[in-house]
Amino acid sequence: MHLTRNFIESVITGLIKEKDLLTQLDIAIGDGDHGANIERGCQAVQAIIEELVEIGLPQAIQKAGFVLIMNMGGASGPLYGTLLLNLGKQLPENPSFSDFAEAFETAVQAVKIRGRSDFGQKSILDVLIPMSQLFVEKPAPWNWKTVSEFALECASKTIVLEAKVGRAAFLGKRSIGHVDPGAYSCALMICQICELLEDSL
Ligand code: ADP
Ligand code: MG
Repeated sequence: MHLTRNFIESVITGLIKEKDLLTQLDIAIGDGDHGANIERGCQAVQAIIEELVEIGLPQAIQKAGFVLIMNMGGASGPLYGTLLLNLGKQLPENPSFSDFAEAFETAVQAVKIRGRSDFGQKSILDVLIPMSQLFVEKPAPWNWKTVSEFALECASKTIVLEAKVGRAAFLGKRSIGHVDPGAYSCALMICQICELLEDSL
């Protein structure tokens, strides 16, 4: 199994399109660089696309994770990188949906360890943890539209949370009332992937 050029480029394009919104979200409760960090990460992956489409799926996901750790920057870069690196490491060459669910759960655990963070602290984990639970608890096949809506709903639920990790934590209660930028970029990424899977499966 391989990642295709169209798959990688569609995810990248979909994320970069939302750069300004991600910047605005991070201006509200952070330092305003989340859009730029996401764009830098996407460009770094785009730069090695020839290699990614040649190697197997697990190796390509691992490689993309490594490139994010090295190039993306911000707190989010190493965390997204850790997610992909560990996901790739766990996946077999031709994963079934249950292989994917298991590998995703392990990868999310790795993000928790790297970020010293958990569910409910206003971060990417407020999307990743419920997503991982959904994949493990609800057997495939998943309805990709429902999965997308669930991811966006998880990101929206960060509005009422007080940030306990990352820069937004410095704001204390003033972080309440805003969507977490990382949770939103994470939901966007999931929506992009679901849309592609819906068209291809
Ligand atoms: P920085 O905070 O260094 O400016 P970004 O703006 O790119 O980096 O990313 C901010 C996002 O990273 C936050 O919205 C949050 O979702 C996520 N984040 C930050 N720290 C952590 C952490 N310790 N654990 C999980 N997610 C985190
Ligand atoms: Mg930032």
